[in-house]
Amino acid sequence: MTTGERLRAILKRLERFYGALPTPPLDAFGLYVWRVVAFQATPQRRDAAMAALRHIPALTPDAMSRAPRGRLEAAVTLAGSLRDERRRALIAGANAFRRNRELVRVLKGSLPEARAALAQLPHLADADGEWLLLFGGDQPLLPADPRAVRVLTRLGYRESSTPSQNLCASVAKELKDDLNLLRHAILYLSHHGLITCTEKSPHCVVCPLLKTCLYGQARTIEPQRSQRSQSTQSS
Ligand code: SF4
Repeated sequence: MTTGERLRAILKRLERFYGALPTPPLDAFGLYVWRVVAFQATPQRRDAAMAALRHIPALTPDAMSRAPRGRLEAAVTLAGSLRDERRRALIAGANAFRRNRELVRVLKGSLPEARAALAQLPHLADADGEWLLLFGGDQPLLPADPRAVRVLTRLGYRESSTPSQNLCASVAKELKDDLNLLRHAILYLSHHGLITCTEKSPHCVVCPLLKTCLYGQARTIEPQRSQRSQSTQSS
């Protein structure tokens, strides 16, 4: 099995395990809003906040800037803590998109120019900016999302010294720079890193990837074996 085939098989397993995940907005401003409300929020809280913002409505830069402050605060509160930080980031993003009406077009243009344009959105971390480029700018790349990078690393796709950006570039190549496949990949890898392959205590015992993950096997199967052999020796 080639690396690309193994990756596709992994994504199929994750899809079977989690079912269909909500697709992020495919417009640049909607994706910006989605990343702001997703920060340190569970998927359920993120989706509740997005639904409330849609209801206001506040999912275009102009609509966001017209939205009453109280309603914006109530909507972002549904995402959890950081109410004021989220509201400020949303307003700053709306102002940036309104100031530069060309921004959406630039994000869909040449990758270097699109990356440079992200500087106009200072409230986004680097990985968030790459999510925006992939979903809102149709750029075929794999965001160096820390959760996805953690999953790929544990699955053996990364030498410890390989920078995250290089890992993501080589995975994107394995997926033939296919835009839809890359969107699918980051969605499931990041979700898996949030829900199961968590940073401190990954839930390897229930993970659908355990059979293909040496890291997970070392944490679960090997300790179980040595426990069994110790109890056999002592009986
Ligand atoms: S088996 Fe464990 S370490 Fe491997 S992907 Fe699953 S949760 Fe992560």
